[in-house]
Amino acid sequence: MTEQLQADIKPGRLSQAEIEANFSDMHPPLERPEALIEADRCYFCFDAPCTTACPTGIDIPGFIQKIRSNNVKGSAHTILSENIMGGMCSRVCPTEVLCEEVCVRNTLEDQPVRIGLLQRFATDSIIQNKLQLFQRREDTGKRVAVVGGGPASLSCAHRLASLGHRVTVLNGAEKPGGLNEYGIAAYKTVNDFAQTEVDYILDIGGIDVRNGKSLGTDFSLADLRSEYDAVFLGFGMAGVNELGMDNDQVEGVIDAVEYIARLRQAGNKSELPVGRKVLVIGGGMTAIDVAVQSKRLGAEEVTIVYRRGEQQMGASQHEQDFAQTSGVSIRRWLAPERLLLTGNRVSGIQFEYTRLDDDGKLQGTGDTCELDADIVFKAIGQQVSWDAMGDTAQALELEHGRIAVDDNRKTSLPDVWAGGDCVNGGEDLTVVAVQDGKLAAIDIDRFLRRKSGLNNGLINGSGE
Ligand SMILES: Cc1cc2nc3c(=O)[nH]c(=O)nc-3n(C[C@H](O)[C@H](O)[C@H](O)COP(=O)(O)OP(=O)(O)OC[C@H]3O[C@@H](n4cnc5c(N)ncnc54)[C@H](O)[C@@H]3O)c2cc1C
Ligand code: SF4
Repeated sequence: MTEQLQADIKPGRLSQAEIEANFSDMHPPLERPEALIEADRCYFCFDAPCTTACPTGIDIPGFIQKIRSNNVKGSAHTILSENIMGGMCSRVCPTEVLCEEVCVRNTLEDQPVRIGLLQRFATDSIIQNKLQLFQRREDTGKRVAVVGGGPASLSCAHRLASLGHRVTVLNGAEKPGGLNEYGIAAYKTVNDFAQTEVDYILDIGGIDVRNGKSLGTDFSLADLRSEYDAVFLGFGMAGVNELGMDNDQVEGVIDAVEYIARLRQAGNKSELPVGRKVLVIGGGMTAIDVAVQSKRLGAEEVTIVYRRGEQQMGASQHEQDFAQTSGVSIRRWLAPERLLLTGNRVSGIQFEYTRLDDDGKLQGTGDTCELDADIVFKAIGQQVSWDAMGDTAQALELEHGRIAVDDNRKTSLPDVWAGGDCVNGGEDLTVVAVQDGKLAAIDIDRFLRRKSGLNNGLINGSGE
């Protein structure tokens, strides 16, 4: 980001104490008595809808029952054997549209069992105290390259390592964790939990992490295919969509994901410059996160502008409400038309009002309005940065600009799997990426054992 202090952009809009309070834990953990009361609310449903709604299929009534019987370690084991990032997912999953949405308690009391908080209760003490619940099976001598260090890759690496394979993680960033480390809103994952969780995952052994190593720059897909027995691709979506106006490249127009990464890595958030008037263009989770975090850094007016209506926004109703109760305004049915400039710096945007025509197509009405801004955040989605990845795109079958995979997350190449945001299909959520990595690892294991006639003594592929 270019820092331009002559516009009203500056650090320290709030005191350090205010900023610390604003970025403290969004959903503080349950104390033990609260967890027991909450666990008692579960009906332990047969064919539990909450389990079906969980993308990683965690046995939710099973882990809640173990909390009730004071078996926290067993409860964590139930969670982590399906989702090794159960700790992070308990903090960041949009439970209101997943497990908690379908909880039968909703119909009786309009108040689901707080599954996310119970999951956090069960996993926190195990992860924070580094209590290792998994061990590697006998070494198979097989080597797998895993590209990327985010949830998809780490989940895949952990499952492969637990099954006895040797894994090399090649990660472009300086730290592992992917968007858990660089993207998730700071108040959802405090106290460096992302790295604590990565350490827990790597503690199983058999995983060699090489940071600062990028596909397309330091090695090619062909290199990996010749050097390793199998390859997993989990490089996410590093490219950001442009606003599509002629002059997108002026000062003050900032990629929201890049700013959030900077915020996540800042030792002292009060030193981070923020505008007095902030406009956010987009309607998804990234738009909500950059808007709320700007507000919490002390921006005076923060407005999310979206070209369609409330129902079409990528952010759930819960997230939209959260932004609004955090002091963010949301303006809908406005499409950015032209950046307003002072010199080479943005000072606002002219928008055109929009509506849906009789065929449901979005069209401009011809009426316009202008909104002022010191900073404009682009949050209109991301894409895979194929340009930075050499001939990777040519080697693989793609769908909608992402990698095409089958149900086992296998690509069009016989020895290459992929998962997470870089594949087509599925929602762009941490929990979905974790499930992709897990499914791919189970299939890679089958492939390696079949290929080399290795004995497969596994019952469920969990590596226990
Ligand atoms: C701002 C923001 C907020 C979000 N908030 C939430 C949330 O609250 N809850 C939720 O469930 N989801 C959230 N998401 C979505 C979630 O973070 C992603 O779906 C998830 O991280 C995808 O995991 P991944 O492993 O596929 O990719 P990523 O997490 O993006 O990881 C990709 C990894 O690949 C590496 N890499 C990239 N290119 C290369 C290369 N060429 N060579 C080697 N390595 C490479 C990167 O360094 C990174 O380590 C959010 C996303 C964003 C952008
Ligand atoms: S749906 Fe609700 S009540 Fe039923 S098992 Fe799941 S958490 Fe318990």
